[in-house]
Amino acid sequence: MTDRAREIFDSVRGEGRKFVMEPEAKAILGSYGVGVTNDVLCRTPEEAIEAARRIGYPVVMKIVSPQIVHKSEYGAVRLRIMSDQEVTAAFSETVSSSRRKIDGLDVRGVIVSETASGQEMIIGSMRDPQFGQMVMFGLGGVNVEIFKDVAYRLAPLEEVDAIEMIAELKGKKLLEGFRGRERVDVRVLTSVLMAVSRLLADFDDIEEMDLNPVFGNERGVKVADARIILR
Ligand code: ADP
Ligand code: MG
Repeated sequence: MTDRAREIFDSVRGEGRKFVMEPEAKAILGSYGVGVTNDVLCRTPEEAIEAARRIGYPVVMKIVSPQIVHKSEYGAVRLRIMSDQEVTAAFSETVSSSRRKIDGLDVRGVIVSETASGQEMIIGSMRDPQFGQMVMFGLGGVNVEIFKDVAYRLAPLEEVDAIEMIAELKGKKLLEGFRGRERVDVRVLTSVLMAVSRLLADFDDIEEMDLNPVFGNERGVKVADARIILR
């Protein structure tokens, strides 16, 4: 277990929470060497504008709250934000649309994030009471949702396990740049699956992890959304 992960899990437990918020989950993953999007947690619209300029337009903005697990359901994710004015509007809209749905909402800030692109993938986990932590991997969108094209393995993964997980997907051709899509660096993907599995093996208190979406291309792999639920 990395010191950073230990520190964050302790602070989440210290607040009596089970839900590890996106910036926390991404910091934990980052400490295991997993690539994540370039994100800045902002408290004011002014901070958000500064962050957006530094990251480069178009940016993504999303709410950070311990009470909001599925951000899109709250109208709390804004994509393709192109200008300072749009940042200001998106900041107040994400907060107000979430506040309309939950009275006295605890808002920790708004993430300003780079717009990631490439092949969408999903990495997840499940705790089997008998066997322990299982890693799940699938290709994003319809492949997972409609075709249930996913692979499972027990954590921790050896390199060969990660390679097999990728190879057993029916949609694996999508990773090779099928019909003009972006090719995914499979060596990086293999190391990401192994690193995620190491985190799961290190911390049995993770009930469930959901990295969705993860974007892959020739330049690497970036987790764009992450949540962890503790036991
Ligand atoms: P949630 O799953 O909590 O509703 P997400 O952070 O996954 O929220 O955002 C919803 C959708 O917005 C994602 O499935 C993805 O399509 C898109 N998205 C989120 N963050 C990014 C990003 N940094 N770059 C590109 N697309 C993103
Ligand atoms: Mg998501």
